Amino acid sequence: AGCSGGSDSETLVPGTNAAFAPFEFEENGDIVGFDIDLAEEAIDRAGYEAGSWSDLEFGSLIPSLNNGDIDLIAAGMTIEPDRQEQIDFTDPYWESNQSVLVQSDGDFQPEGESDLDGASVGVQGGTTGEGEAERLLEEGVIAEDDLERYPNYVLAVEDLEGGNVDAVIVDQPVAKNFSAERDVSVAFVIETGEQFGMGMRTDDDRLAEINDALAEIREDGTYDELVAEWFE
Ligand code: GLN
Repeated sequence: AGCSGGSDSETLVPGTNAAFAPFEFEENGDIVGFDIDLAEEAIDRAGYEAGSWSDLEFGSLIPSLNNGDIDLIAAGMTIEPDRQEQIDFTDPYWESNQSVLVQSDGDFQPEGESDLDGASVGVQGGTTGEGEAERLLEEGVIAEDDLERYPNYVLAVEDLEGGNVDAVIVDQPVAKNFSAERDVSVAFVIETGEQFGMGMRTDDDRLAEINDALAEIREDGTYDELVAEWFE
């Protein structure tokens, strides 16, 4: 579409939910993080120009992609069958599990899922963490009234620190980051083995070019540099 034939390359507008450090977060008014650098590098190497980032609610990312407001999702988004019915994903670029966060010095220190019996659990709405909480609900471990859905994980963790929920279920690297920066710790891990991919519209043939760029970024060591920069 939009290429006007001048020397300017075609723009690809990326979207994220900047409350998921170290993948994407706000720092001094800028949106920064691993996903941001990885996506911009891939867009650039694929021969496009990265437009300015749209910061959206997680649940708005897929609709915004499909209505053309954004062209690429980079948001620590897990490749899931129900999402694959709506969008395409790049090859996986990250593997994660879920972690259960609790107050660092609180009385509540669960060692496994069964210890969540009767506890209140916070998640970000529309995430795989919410999916794990719903599984615990179906298994009768937690009650519907005790499942708190937040618009983003920063608000969920603030409520955990404030004592309004007993635990938060969130992707493992993000939990680790929260535990380094706030008064919360990882109680235990739920092994989900989920994989993150970037999202693009199903009819966007630039996906193959983005995949090639991601492969090149891995092969030449840039990927490892980004991991070192944002995770170590
Ligand atoms: N990986 C999780 C998911 O895809 C959470 C992503 C996020 O909160 N940004 O549902």
